[in-house]
Amino acid sequence: MAGERIPYGSILSRGLRLRCPQCGVGKLFNRWLHLAPSCPHCQLAYEPLEGNSWWFMYYSTAVFTGVIILAMLLIRPANHAFGRLVIFAVAFFLIVLSLPYRKGLAIAFDYLSELRFGNRPELRLRDRTDRVDNS
Ligand SMILES: [Zn+2]
Repeated sequence: MAGERIPYGSILSRGLRLRCPQCGVGKLFNRWLHLAPSCPHCQLAYEPLEGNSWWFMYYSTAVFTGVIILAMLLIRPANHAFGRLVIFAVAFFLIVLSLPYRKGLAIAFDYLSELRFGNRPELRLRDRTDRVDNS
C-alpha cells in the first residue's frame, strides 16, 4: 500500500461502504453507530480530533430537514394522516437510517482534508511520496 496513490473517488466510496478510507479493509464501526477508534488493518485513527466530522453531520442533517420541510410545504396529500405517516417514514429513513453512511462519508472527507491540508505528517509525507512516484 505504501507508495500507492488512492483516488479521491475510492476514498469517498470506502467511506460510504463503511470501510477505512485509507486501506478499504477495516470496518469503521464495531456496532451500529459505534465508531472504532482506529482501523484494525492499517491503524489509521478514524477521528484523531473529536468533532472533525461534526460539521458534515450537522449540515447533512440540516439539508435533509430542509428537503422534508420543503416537501411538506409543496405536497398536499388528500389524506393528512397518510401524509404524516409518509413524512415520518421519509424523515426516519433520511435522517436516522442514513447516519452510519453519512458518518462514513464524513470520515472519508476528513481523511481527504487531512491528506491535503492537515497536520498529520504521516499522511502528508505519504502523499508527497506518491506524487514523486507518479511523476
Ligand atoms: Zn485501514
